[in-house]
Amino acid sequence: MDPADLAAAITPRTRLVWLEAAGSVTLEFPDLPALVAVVRAANQGRQRPIRTALDDTWGAGIALAPFALGVDVAMQALTKYPSGGADVLMGAVVTRDEALHQQLLLTHMRLGLGVGANDAEAVLRGLPSLPLRYRAQDAATRALAAWMREQPRVARVFHPALPDSPGHTAWRRDARGAACLFSVAFDADVTPAQVDAFCDALRLFRLGYSWAGPVSLCVPYDVPAMRTRPWPHAPRIVRLAVGLEDVADLQADLAQALRVLAP
Ligand SMILES: *Cc1c(COP(=O)(O)O)cnc(C)c1O
Repeated sequence: MDPADLAAAITPRTRLVWLEAAGSVTLEFPDLPALVAVVRAANQGRQRPIRTALDDTWGAGIALAPFALGVDVAMQALTKYPSGGADVLMGAVVTRDEALHQQLLLTHMRLGLGVGANDAEAVLRGLPSLPLRYRAQDAATRALAAWMREQPRVARVFHPALPDSPGHTAWRRDARGAACLFSVAFDADVTPAQVDAFCDALRLFRLGYSWAGPVSLCVPYDVPAMRTRPWPHAPRIVRLAVGLEDVADLQADLAQALRVLAP
């Protein structure tokens, strides 16, 4: 999130700066052009330039324009939006730099990577409906995130379109939409066991790490255990991924599960 922090982390051995927008779990949205500018400045006088790559799984080629934002490589987990069916594991690495493209092709060949024909077929079948699914899940997610932050026991809701979510200004400037994820931090006196009980009480949101499929999913995370930067909120948060179910049903599911948090 902090360009000065990135500048300080770059050393003569740095080869690649890997970017992600928004953060997968805590949904903060970095100032991508500022981060790219840090790398460009560090590349002055270098023989071998540091490359920038963006994990564009969240933007899915819909909400973000990675090359316009200045990155060298855009990567996507096709597992998520392009498949849309939550039934395929696949990825894409894309660049407009011809020399880098040849390097990637050669590496791909040498590693002997390949995808199954059936998997490729599933992704091709999902692609035409991607924009519609993206917009539908975006709208449903914003509605649920806005509703969630009004609920008792909820301290913070993280979603880049919410004005108090970290990086909201950069999101508004650089993104044309938002994916199906939001995260919730509860009041400080809500115990981790209660947060887990909330997840277990959900019926339509199933436990699961993936997202952008038809079924809504939920994962509890212990944030301080997975980051080195300070985390000023309750340690146990819940990330919710909105599927294609009816929004009113999803809201009712969240409402009934929130009852387990009553003091
Ligand atoms: C899921 C995910 C990946 C990895 O995708 P898989 O195909 O499941 O290995 C990478 N980046 C982001 C942001 C993801 O959400």
